[in-house]
Amino acid sequence: MISLKAGREKSLRRRHPWIFSGAVEKVTDQPKAGDTVDVRSSSGQVIARAAYSPASQIRARVWTFDAREEVDAAFFRNRVTRALAVREALPATKHSNAMRLIHAESDGLPGLVVDRYADVLVAQFLAAGVERWRDPILDALAELTGCEAIYERSDAETRKLEGLESRSGFVRGNRKAARCPIIEYGLNFRVDVEQGQKTGFFLDQRENRHRVRALAAGREVLDGFCYTGGFAINALAGGAKHVLAIESSAPSLEVARENLAANTVDASRLEFMQADAFAHLRKLRDGNAHFDLVVLDPPKFAPTAAQAKNAARAYKDINLLAFKLLRPGGLLATFSCSGGVDAALFQSIVAGAAVDAGADAKILERFTAAADHPVALEFPEGEYLKGLLVLKT
Ligand code: SAH
Repeated sequence: MISLKAGREKSLRRRHPWIFSGAVEKVTDQPKAGDTVDVRSSSGQVIARAAYSPASQIRARVWTFDAREEVDAAFFRNRVTRALAVREALPATKHSNAMRLIHAESDGLPGLVVDRYADVLVAQFLAAGVERWRDPILDALAELTGCEAIYERSDAETRKLEGLESRSGFVRGNRKAARCPIIEYGLNFRVDVEQGQKTGFFLDQRENRHRVRALAAGREVLDGFCYTGGFAINALAGGAKHVLAIESSAPSLEVARENLAANTVDASRLEFMQADAFAHLRKLRDGNAHFDLVVLDPPKFAPTAAQAKNAARAYKDINLLAFKLLRPGGLLATFSCSGGVDAALFQSIVAGAAVDAGADAKILERFTAAADHPVALEFPEGEYLKGLLVLKT
């Protein structure tokens, strides 16, 4: 049992699922990591049941706000069923066989991420609660999705904050090849579920890649952080005149080249380059190079608000260079996946970059994560990806 300090039940009344260590008055019965505990307000009322995590600043994550609800294998089967039903209703199921099936807190399963790549699932157990219930969750996933194999990628840094060791490998079924072929809006991609970043592919950008494809015809395109070629190959398929795709990671570029070869496009119009995007964009600017469409989808510079200041500098730097490289009439599709930088801050950073570059620019569209990454209204932290389509006039 966890008893909260006076007034600290407020966020739980709004159904926010996190209980920070500073909100806890008393812990009784010596629960262990992952144990289900009752959460009591200062007036003595049980207001939630949660997973206890003694090593983490997020001391408990709520499973349910119904004090009588049993947290058992059936509970998890039910939550997985509900998450799958949300995805089945999405239009994207007609366009891709790769989908985020479980988006952690937003699906009532704090710390659990599950992505489907054709007939393979990739699961990440990122908190003590889901770690405890790993087996029943894996059973439910295997049964309810019918997927032949599940690969575990519990190797994210955030596990350390929960006092959990890194773990990865096949946990259900098996598959010889590490690369899973998927289809997204008619394009072929290979997903390296073992070595790729995160679970192997950035599914959150699906609709935005498709949007960039529709904007690319006849344009000279620069993709600053191309990973396995997602935006770059979309731009090419959309009729781009030429695409320059930059990426610092050699293994990612290897998959990018396989992806290019897996599609019927004119590969001679796409150039991959292994480089640091910051340095290379500067070099392009110094060489007076110009583009008609620039895509910037950099890694997470600020996982939390504490790193926002350094992140702001990096975002401004790269966006400033992009504005310099754009011709008048050119488009910038610029993104931030930093939880510590919200949409308003990101917009003001991009605005500052335009001013410093001496560019007149207008926002034409706003981007978010695809709908298989839903944001539960009570959990705004779930909204991490934001982007702008900006026209340089
Ligand atoms: N847009 C991609 C995902 C990009 S993820 C897609 O749709 O699939 C960000 C990428 O930036 C990662 O692949 C990472 O390796 C790369 N990266 C990180 N720092 C970089 C740098 N300084 N220069 C170039 N690439 C970098």
